[in-house]
Parts: sequence; structure tokens; C-alpha cells
Amino acid sequence: MSNIFNIALDGPSGSGKSTIAKKLSSKLDILYLDTGAMYRATALKALSLGIDTFDADGVSTFIDDIDLEIKYIDGTQHTYLDGEDVSERIREPHVSMAASNISSLKCVRLKMVDMQRKIAKTMSCVLDGRDIGSYVLPDAQFKFYITASVDVRADRRFKELTLKGHKVDFEELKKEIEQRDYNDSHRDFAPLKQADDAIVIDTSFMSVDAVINKVLSYIEK
Ligand code: C5P
Repeated sequence: MSNIFNIALDGPSGSGKSTIAKKLSSKLDILYLDTGAMYRATALKALSLGIDTFDADGVSTFIDDIDLEIKYIDGTQHTYLDGEDVSERIREPHVSMAASNISSLKCVRLKMVDMQRKIAKTMSCVLDGRDIGSYVLPDAQFKFYITASVDVRADRRFKELTLKGHKVDFEELKKEIEQRDYNDSHRDFAPLKQADDAIVIDTSFMSVDAVINKVLSYIEK
């Protein structure tokens, strides 16, 4: 019998998924697959080609052959596009919105989901995303839906970006998060959704360690 297991962590932008996923994967000594990075890299590709991120016909000209690779260096995910490590560039604020837009296209989701399922099948991993428990891996052994209020999420993103030297306006950031929430939960195909069997954790007033302990308490049960 295979010992491979998957943990799905879904939820809206800034809910703390990636921080939780990173720590959890290192505690359990399994991989962390940041699926958002894949949508971000796809958006970067469209931007570099001058293709509108809502233009399904334009995006379909490159999506099947996209040279997108996920590699792990010292346990950390690196995202490569056309052979270049774009792990930093895909975090730029304009790429966030472009990723949210392009992720609504069915051709993009089919391609990304196919890649994610292949990775999850071969190794135990924590996957963070929007549709992991509801669509990508409906049979994942563990499913969590990580959420937090919009204000808390905007505040976290503000601090993260400011720390990296980006100049951002809090209210604009909050509006952008609300827009991404709306886009993610209203797209026709595989929207952001809490799987019926997912455990919901509101991280608004919880420390990272408290969230990790809560997740681990379910896994170890
Ligand atoms: O999680 P992150 O903010 O990096 O994701 C960037 C964008 O990619 C999200 O706004 C969302 O629209 C999209 N995404 C998605 N499905 C996933 C992961 C991310 O649609 N599984």
C-alpha cells in the first residue's frame, strides 16, 4: 500500500495558508506545493507576451506548451518559467491581480490542475490553493479551509510587502484583496470553495503556532 498522503489547504488570499503550509510541511517532512505560484508564473508569461490575462484565445496559444517547472532547492519551492527562476518576480503586486484574472480561464485551470495532480500522486505534500480540496484532490486525506477577515488579511499583506520594500497603500491593497476574493469565488470553473468535508480555521486572531497545532491535532488523531 502507498504511504503517500496529501493535505489540502484552501482559502482566500492572505489567510495565512502559505505560512501554515511551509511550517507544516517542514514539521511533517513532506513537500509544500504552492499552487498559486503556478498561476502567477502563467500570468507572468501572458504579461511578457503582451497577452491580456482575460483573453482565453490569446492564452490558449501558449498554455499547452508552457515551460513551467517546479523544483525544490533545500526543501524550498522554486518556480521556473522558460528556464528562468521567477520565484521573486511572481510576487510583485501587479502579478497578483494578473494571476487572479488568468486563473479564471478554463484552459489555464485544466493545465495547472493536471500538473498538480501529477505531483501530488508521486509524493506526500501540503498543497495550498483555492480549489484543492473541492476539485484538484477531492480524495485528499486531510482538508482545511483557512480563512481570516479582510482587514486582517490586508494588514498582513501590507506588512509583508512593506517589509520587502514595496510602496503600497493599505486601502488599495484591501480593495484589491476584495476584488481577488470576488474573482476567485465567482469564476465558473472550479471557484474558491470550502469543500464540504474541510475543517474551517479562522486565523484572524490566532498565532501561527496555534494554527499549526490545531491542524496537527486533526492530522495526528
Ligand atoms: O495564493 P496566491 O495569492 O499566490 O494565488 C495567486 C492567484 O492564483 C489567486 O488570486 C487565485 O486567483 C489563483 N489561484 C487559483 N487556484 C489555486 C491557487 C491560486 O485560482 N489553486
